[in-house]
Amino acid sequence: MKPRVNSQGLVEGVRYIASPNCDERPPGSAIDLLIIHHISLPPGEFGGSGIVEFFTNRLDPQAHPYYASIAEVKVSAHFLVRRDGGLIQFVPCVKRAWHAGDSSWKGKTRCNDFSIGIEMEGTGEIPFTDAQYGRLTRLTRALLAHYPIADIVGHSDVAPGRKSDPGPHFDWTRYRAMLKDRAEPRNVRKALGKNRNRAVTTSGRRARTRRI
Ligand SMILES: [Zn+2]
Repeated sequence: MKPRVNSQGLVEGVRYIASPNCDERPPGSAIDLLIIHHISLPPGEFGGSGIVEFFTNRLDPQAHPYYASIAEVKVSAHFLVRRDGGLIQFVPCVKRAWHAGDSSWKGKTRCNDFSIGIEMEGTGEIPFTDAQYGRLTRLTRALLAHYPIADIVGHSDVAPGRKSDPGPHFDWTRYRAMLKDRAEPRNVRKALGKNRNRAVTTSGRRARTRRI
C-alpha cells in the first residue's frame, strides 16, 4: 500500500511512538526541507531499543557506557528507518522535531523550523541496506506529495563541520534514481517533476548542488 500523510502529519499505517522532543513550528513556516541522518544505539549496534528510548527520554544511563553521556539530551527525528526497512514515526510532521540542532540552509538558520528529519539506522562505516533505501524512497514520495519540499539534504549539509551524518556510505545517487523511478503513480511523478530543477545536495564537506 502506498503510504499517505494525514492532516496531522502522521503517515497512515506506520507505527507511531510519540516523542516529547518537539514543539510547534513558527507560524507560517512552510515545510520545504528534508534532512537525512544516521543513528545507531549503542553505537555500531542495530535492532535494539536504544534509539526509541533515546527519542522518548527513557534511555537508562546505566545500560551502556555511552548512554551516560547522552541520556539527558532531548532530541528526536520525525522518522526512523530500521535496518530491515521497518519504519517508526516519533513526531507528526506538522510539529517541529528537534533533530538538526544548530544548522542553516540557504541562509535560513534553525532548520528544525522548516524541515522534516529522517534517521537511517546505521553508522558512518558501513552501507545502508536495500530494505532501507526502499522504505526511505516510499516515505520520501509520500512526503513530496504532501509538502512543498524543495531540497533533500544530509545533516552534514546543514551543519558542516559539526555533523557528518548520513556519511559517505549513504548512496545519494541510488536514492535519487529510486525517487525518479517511472513506475510511480502520476501524482507522485508530478511532485517530483515540480522539484526536478531544485537542488538536491550530496552529503559531504562541500555541499554540491545536484538535480534529481
Ligand atoms: Zn544527524
